[in-house]
Amino acid sequence: MGAKGAGEDGDRRIGRRALIVGGLAAAAGTAALARDELGRLWWRLPGVDKPRTPGAVDFAGARWVAASDANWRGADRPDDFGIDMVVVHVTQGSLDSAVKAFQNPGHKAAAHYIVGKDGRITQMIRELDVAYHAGNRDYNERSVGIEHEGFVDRPEDFTDAMYAASARLTARICARYDIPVDREHIIGHVEVPGTDHTDPGPHWDWNRYLKLVRRAGTAQADQGRTATTADGTGG
Ligand SMILES: [Zn+2]
Repeated sequence: MGAKGAGEDGDRRIGRRALIVGGLAAAAGTAALARDELGRLWWRLPGVDKPRTPGAVDFAGARWVAASDANWRGADRPDDFGIDMVVVHVTQGSLDSAVKAFQNPGHKAAAHYIVGKDGRITQMIRELDVAYHAGNRDYNERSVGIEHEGFVDRPEDFTDAMYAASARLTARICARYDIPVDREHIIGHVEVPGTDHTDPGPHWDWNRYLKLVRRAGTAQADQGRTATTADGTGG
């Protein structure tokens, strides 16, 4: 079904399509048409066409460097695609080389975040949008991708600062989208169906990482309660 014939019964067609938004509207094979219709229905649907503020980040303290828009596509997650996964990657190179690769339109891939060995976090794609990081369309649409600076065969690259910062980031993502903190939902690129990538590799300490994510989640929840109380907006 294409754009043809959307004339007189256009309104009815839009109404029907609006009902399945959040399902697989785009899978009807008329993604462009659906997007056009969504654009006109923004007032009916929560979250559609959320504004992109230049330089805005989804994680406090991250620095923003925009990836080439050839390496991701616009979406309105979690309203069009639910997010229920974090995918852990390793860059196989320096932080700078990863940033350059994601800025390169010919690279055809990029993740939302890169965590450096020093624990600094760079965000290159908004969580609203679908980053091409997993090599699998379904997994890209439902996940946030986090790169880690280093090489899979160099365990010394995975520093304490990196684990701690990445765990704080993942804890935030899990809290924001109500993602369970377990190995079903926090996975390595190697676990994505159809991939030939091996990252994060055998030296990535999953037990340690999940423990840190849980601890960071608890600390963030406590901070949230304290902040609410201090503001006098509690209850
Ligand atoms: Zn990867």
